[in-house]
Amino acid sequence: MTREEELADALEGVRERIALACDKAGRDPSEITLVAVTKTRPASDVRLLAGLGVTDIGENRDQEAGPKAAECRDLPLTWHFVGRLQTNKVKSVLRYASVVHSVDRPRLVSALSAEAADRAEPVRCLVQVSLDPPDADGRGGARIEDVPALADAIAAAPGLELGGVMAVAPLGEDPAPAFARLADVAARIRTAHPSARIVSAGMSGDLDEAIACGATHVRIGTALLGGRRAIVG
Ligand SMILES: *Cc1c(COP(=O)(O)O)cnc(C)c1O
Repeated sequence: MTREEELADALEGVRERIALACDKAGRDPSEITLVAVTKTRPASDVRLLAGLGVTDIGENRDQEAGPKAAECRDLPLTWHFVGRLQTNKVKSVLRYASVVHSVDRPRLVSALSAEAADRAEPVRCLVQVSLDPPDADGRGGARIEDVPALADAIAAAPGLELGGVMAVAPLGEDPAPAFARLADVAARIRTAHPSARIVSAGMSGDLDEAIACGATHVRIGTALLGGRRAIVG
């Protein structure tokens, strides 16, 4: 099998899983955006995925994503930054990413806004919500009680647009109740900001539960691209 055939097969499998999950949840698959998380995979994979109709690419490390996005500049892709973002990387990330899923603190809102304020197109920002128990050694994100204020700050910041919320399911816990907590806070945000409809949740292992809980964006790595390569550098 060529790499293209491998990716085509995997893509079909993921699309089938999305369709099944939507069916069970009484939702339409057109409501779901598939973000292919290509971290640790080469630009050639991104190019093949684009050829297969994938439009949205996710990356979590600027050091790796910058050169990859530059190599794929000719492709009609939307780049999503989904990893922990340091303020000193904001300028570099905004060279390619138009959606940032991991906004988790006020200082990052200021840094993104300072960089984005002069742009024609606003940068779409999602508040990353921590679904971990308080004080757990968590996977990043703002505490639920801090989410509304952070959402308000994004909505008010020049150059930024509040897209909605994002989360990663906690380790070692059933993802369904965690995603239900995310759905709750997402609904609260939409009361104040009706256009902030994105719920970015669901990875290879839990996309079904995420779709059942209202995810609009699923971030899929291994189920599409296979096992990740060791991270170098
Ligand atoms: C790597 C990653 C994914 C994809 O995870 P898989 O389990 O490989 O599908 C999704 N979201 C974030 C934030 C990631 O870092």
